Amino acid sequence: MKDYYKILGVNKSASEDEIKKAFRKLAHEHHPDKTGGEDAKFKEINEAYQVLSDKNKRAHFDRFGTDPSSQGGFPGGGNPFGGFGGFDPSSVNVDFGDIGDIFETFFGGGGGSATRGRRRTERGGSDLETALQLTLEEVFFGVKKEVFIKTNIGCDRCNGSGAEGDSGLENCSACGGSGEIREDKRTFFGTFSQARVCDKCHGFGKIPKKACGKCSGMGIISGERKIVVEVAPGVQEGQVIQIKGAGESGPRNIGTGDLYIGIRIKPNLLFKRLGDDLSVSLEVKILDIILEKTISLKGIDGKKIEFSVPTNFNLRDPIKISGEGMTKFGKKNRGDLLVNLVVKSPKKISRKARETLNGLDNSDID
Ligand SMILES: [Zn+2]
Ligand SMILES: [Zn+2]
Repeated sequence: MKDYYKILGVNKSASEDEIKKAFRKLAHEHHPDKTGGEDAKFKEINEAYQVLSDKNKRAHFDRFGTDPSSQGGFPGGGNPFGGFGGFDPSSVNVDFGDIGDIFETFFGGGGGSATRGRRRTERGGSDLETALQLTLEEVFFGVKKEVFIKTNIGCDRCNGSGAEGDSGLENCSACGGSGEIREDKRTFFGTFSQARVCDKCHGFGKIPKKACGKCSGMGIISGERKIVVEVAPGVQEGQVIQIKGAGESGPRNIGTGDLYIGIRIKPNLLFKRLGDDLSVSLEVKILDIILEKTISLKGIDGKKIEFSVPTNFNLRDPIKISGEGMTKFGKKNRGDLLVNLVVKSPKKISRKARETLNGLDNSDID
């Protein structure tokens, strides 16, 4: 008999929160896509969590344990739709938001109808998350990007209905159209009635008269979705773009989840973003500073910027060039550019220069 508490490493009095935490930690450790991850162990952890996170199931488990004949009441890990909806959490940068919630989305969507006692018809495919990497220049100008997501998509042969041709649907014979199967279980304490999702129709209550030859009647196939995202200028690291209906397709057109795209910004070799401002380091020659010569550099937009260092300027402060920074999100104007001056020591000084400089003293340049 399995001990779900032991599997999650918590004691019998553990709070919902403790159980959730233990599960997240273990799910991370044993995720099959991770090195050292293990499919069987991962399933076991998931199964334990599905029971202990559900008040009724937990109470039942506390009283009766995992009697093999009552497995129908503990549909842990059983997932008629396969995997995580074709989505690979490890391929994605998930440190925006709470990783636990992402896992929950997968579990909830994958085995949703069974594990959460929710009927399939209540909600379609899972919401998905992915990350979109942008350069700082792309952030500055705004950008249109294509995002590809491997997930379950509607079957193109039956248009998601699951039925071949015009064959249509009929009531499921296993559950009589209710979508769930009730089982009476006799125990020493009395008789209990349990309902589980019908495994013939997956909770729909109806099945295609003739199943579609491409999707076997599920109405979904694993495939790839291409989404064109238009990112507005000035987007921030970690901002999330929600695209409705671009997530996983649920079986038989019951609905499609949403796609959440988290923005990641690649570091730029020259410019550093400080909110709406940009900062940059620039090497300048001593004479250019002393003589207030025009110094030029290229801005993030590729345009030439010119400035000079005013006398009596503290070289430890950045030169502030107004309006040459980052585009402000949702606005037309820009932040400022902060130029940090790095004063270069001369590589060589000619005899003439040395003589001239020797003729000066600190009262000349003060
Ligand atoms: Zn089909
Ligand atoms: Zn059925």
